[in-house]
Order: sequence, then C-alpha cells, then structure tokens
Amino acid sequence: MKSRRTHYEILNVTSQSTLLEIKQAYKELLLNTHPDKIQSNNTHKINKIHSLDDIKEAYRVLGDDKLRKQYDTELLEDGKRKGIYKFGDGVDEVSLDTFETVEHTHNDGTESDIWHYYRKCPRCQVADGFKLDDNLLEEFAVVCENRDDGMYQVLIQCDSCSLWLKVQFFAADEEEQD
Ligand SMILES: [Zn+2]
Repeated sequence: MKSRRTHYEILNVTSQSTLLEIKQAYKELLLNTHPDKIQSNNTHKINKIHSLDDIKEAYRVLGDDKLRKQYDTELLEDGKRKGIYKFGDGVDEVSLDTFETVEHTHNDGTESDIWHYYRKCPRCQVADGFKLDDNLLEEFAVVCENRDDGMYQVLIQCDSCSLWLKVQFFAADEEEQD
C-alpha cells in the first residue's frame, strides 16, 4: 500500500511555513523537477522526486489561505486516526521516558489519575515545548505498525517552534500496583 504524502511533505515545508516560504519552496521544486534535470540525476534521486502534478496540486492548496485551512482540518482528523497529535514532518523518535512526569492534583489535594508529561525542546530549548497528558495519549496514540511488542506512538509538534517528535511508549499495565 502506498502511503500518501501530505502537501506539506511534497513541498518540503511545515505547517508553520508562511505563504512566502511556500511560494519559494514551490519555485525551487519546479526548477528541480524540470525533465532535463531529472535525467541527469541518479536513480536514487528520481525516486524521491514527486510528480509535477503532485507539486502543482500541493501548491494549489497550500498557496490559498482558505483551501489551506480546510486542508489543515482534514489533516488533523486524518492524524487522529493514525495517531498523530498535531501534524508535521519529522524524523526524531523519543521515548516517553525522556519526559518529565507530573501527577496532577485536584484543588482539594486529592491525586487524580491523570499524568502530565513535559519535555524541553531540543531545538528551541523551551522548557515545556512538548506537553502531553494521559487524556491526549488515550485519544491520539496508536499501536506502532511494524512492531508486535505493544508499543504505542504519538506525533507531537513543539509549541514554540516547528520541530516535531515521535513519542513512543508502552501502555502501563493496569494490573500493576493494585
Ligand atoms: Zn521547539
């Protein structure tokens, strides 16, 4: 099954990119996708180049404010099904163990079952750039494909910059410490 790339991935921009950046990325891609250039490249590179139709369609949507907003909404809904909380393009995988965990306490001092997870952003260094909690994990995390050990994953983007991380974790055994 061929996985569809997002318009953002095709244009090599992020959800934070401005219209100007998108225009520049589009122009650059058009130059690099010229048939003469493709022929002079090696096979490896050709595989990575998207078709001119894909690039044009991506720009048609992302270059239009209204269509882009609509597309963002669709991506978010699509992301929910695939385990992506805030969409983006990324590479880094981290364990949920690298997050600082804070147990939420109710106003009356009793402990709730909801844990919060914070992580300093490795790029912009904002202390709690990455924030998750048990409710978000329950809603967005999905079982990792290609693995059979029950590992879950969720994609999340930094609140302060466009960096995203793939956070992986094992679901807590509900029977433990009963
Ligand atoms: Zn950041």
